[in-house]
Amino acid sequence: DLWNADGHVRFEAVEFAYTKGRVILPRFDLDIPAGETVALVGSTGAGKSTLAKLIARFYDPSDGVVSLDGVALSDLHPKDLRRAIVMVTQEAYLFSGSVADNIALGKPDASFDEIVRAAQAVGAHEFIEGLPNGYDTDVNKRGGRVSAGQRQLISFARAFLANPAVLILDEATSSLDIPSERLVQEGLTKLLADRTAVIIAHRLSTVAIADRVLVMEHGRIVEDGTPDDL
Ligand code: ATP
Ligand code: MG
Repeated sequence: DLWNADGHVRFEAVEFAYTKGRVILPRFDLDIPAGETVALVGSTGAGKSTLAKLIARFYDPSDGVVSLDGVALSDLHPKDLRRAIVMVTQEAYLFSGSVADNIALGKPDASFDEIVRAAQAVGAHEFIEGLPNGYDTDVNKRGGRVSAGQRQLISFARAFLANPAVLILDEATSSLDIPSERLVQEGLTKLLADRTAVIIAHRLSTVAIADRVLVMEHGRIVEDGTPDDL
């Protein structure tokens, strides 16, 4: 049976070190209610990606518990975990293959209709239709057929199709032109609706749409408030 998570993420007394004796997160507590959009900011090396990777269970804590809906991630069936928690990384990875195949990675048994609906939902459908072969266009063809902003939209469509309870996003740092920036922002807003999201935010516009902003320094949260508070 499929388990549908609500998306309540909790860190309780979590300690984490990549190597013994060099603690990155010292006794870390954090409660993220289901449905909340959290923007994570802070200087380089602060521990943002480490925190994100602990939520996606790329690593287990050295001490303490990371849980989803009250169940320790280590007690979840890997299949349930992968379905409930999806991480989208900076590089907006696209694989050799068609646009449709790249979106379908979010849900391998998706029909073409579902793929198109996911693309429409995040605002990617129009540009895809404008590509030389539409959804059949090979994204890996050299020559910049698919721009940085378009790659992000494709990865958003993939995540939308996967429909996880918890989305973790390491926002791309690459700068976009203004129209792409607006499209990506709109796509992101659609993608965030009705799920928990933790975004390592590089754009002010992303911080602005978050419910909550966490500022990290040296593995600790030094500020926790709404975008207006900060
Ligand atoms: P950035 O904004 O540069 O992405 P960050 O806030 O994401 O930084 P992390 O990548 O979480 O920071 O790194 C936190 C600390 O952990 C840093 O001191 C970093 O050197 C260290 N670190 C990160 N990944 C590893 C790893 N795989 N092995 C050992 N140390 C690591
Ligand atoms: Mg990082």
